[in-house]
Amino acid sequence: MTSILQTLSCADNYDPNSLHVDRARELILDLLSPVGVHERVFVRQALDRVLAEDVISPIDVPSHDNSAMDGWAVRYSDLAASGETRLKNIGTALAGRAFEGRVDAGETVRIMTGAILPQDVDCVVIQEVARVEGDAVIIPPGQRRDQNTRRAGEDLQAGRPAIAAGKKLRPAEIGIIASLGVAELSVRRRVRVALFSTGDELCSIGTPLAPGAVYDSNRYTLWGMLTRLGCDVIDMGVVRDDPAALEAAFREAAGCADAIITSGGVSVGEADFIKQLMAQLGEVAFWKIAMKPGRPMAFGRIQPDGADSPGAWLFGLPGNPVAVMVTFYQFVRPAILKLAGVDPVIPFPAFPARCVEAMKKGRGRTEFQRGILFQEDGEWCVRPTGAQGSGVLRSMSEADCFIVLEHEREKVGAGDTVNVQLMSGLV
Ligand code: AMP
Ligand code: MG
Repeated sequence: MTSILQTLSCADNYDPNSLHVDRARELILDLLSPVGVHERVFVRQALDRVLAEDVISPIDVPSHDNSAMDGWAVRYSDLAASGETRLKNIGTALAGRAFEGRVDAGETVRIMTGAILPQDVDCVVIQEVARVEGDAVIIPPGQRRDQNTRRAGEDLQAGRPAIAAGKKLRPAEIGIIASLGVAELSVRRRVRVALFSTGDELCSIGTPLAPGAVYDSNRYTLWGMLTRLGCDVIDMGVVRDDPAALEAAFREAAGCADAIITSGGVSVGEADFIKQLMAQLGEVAFWKIAMKPGRPMAFGRIQPDGADSPGAWLFGLPGNPVAVMVTFYQFVRPAILKLAGVDPVIPFPAFPARCVEAMKKGRGRTEFQRGILFQEDGEWCVRPTGAQGSGVLRSMSEADCFIVLEHEREKVGAGDTVNVQLMSGLV
């Protein structure tokens, strides 16, 4: 494998001391490729999994020409160009029970939604506009050929890809696969992610809180975010700020996971040996990303057994609980999607909203404030949650969106338009 650090240092706009958020995301996505292993699963187990091979339609959908409405099946050529047409009712076509006879000139059959169109029928007149007089049906003028009909293969054609590899399967795709009569399909295996928290101040839940200690919450938010993304999570607990313990943890993680996520230990003033150790055990870049929160981040590969061993990608996230979540959503989430085989990985969309409070904004960095959306006079508005400190996890819980203050953006005045990323769909 080519050296990550060399590749990074040759990239345009690469400044590890002030890396633009978008550039950092691009660099990560360029280096990663999907896990190679496929699994066969039944259709219901495929929900939220990533399709590994195109699903080729074995049949036309719909499989026959059929009616889109309840009404009268007619031959368009029978209909008068102007004025009413009188046709003879000769039977009924139901969904799943076709009309067996022929519809000859001057004849019609009652037809229900989904019923196969009888031969030579090329128009369905909805029941609401037709008039029935005994066994005669009176059709008003103004009908169109092919109206209210669905043609065989209109949705999906036999032999053609119905769903392309790389799609993360949602309920719509699960339904499409079932509509093809397909029971089993190939998906990518789940991405395996090992995670541990570092820090001597960390205390595990279920133990009393020592003076100066904090409960380790990052492992729980990370577990939640990774589980929602469909990863297999290997939770390795808290690892002390101790070189031997950390080295053992990195070795174990690199041996069993596609990616390793750590929290803490990458900021200025942190025990430097963590960074040294990361660098020794693989190829790791230490980035100061031009963002708030979440400035320090480590990214690279941990390969304790040398550059030819498989190893695992490393995301060394900062320790602050909000910074962990923001860096996760901005960098780790797209990275995991890429590893999972999602294709294409598209940036999470942002929408404009009117910000009802003024906000300060630092120059030359992207800020992710936590916001609450509401509607006023039919317009979407947003206000920041209270305290925005990067340790205030409550701000993430109260928020339903990120207010994205882009790199070049100056301060925000009350009433200014800002871009927001909805957390729903992201989280
Ligand atoms: P660090 O990046 O390690 O300097 O940590 C920055 C801040 O985040 C410190 O106040 C830590 O106590 C806190 N912190 C670090 N790791 C965790 C964790 N796993 N859970 C909760 N808070 C943490
Ligand atoms: Mg720490």
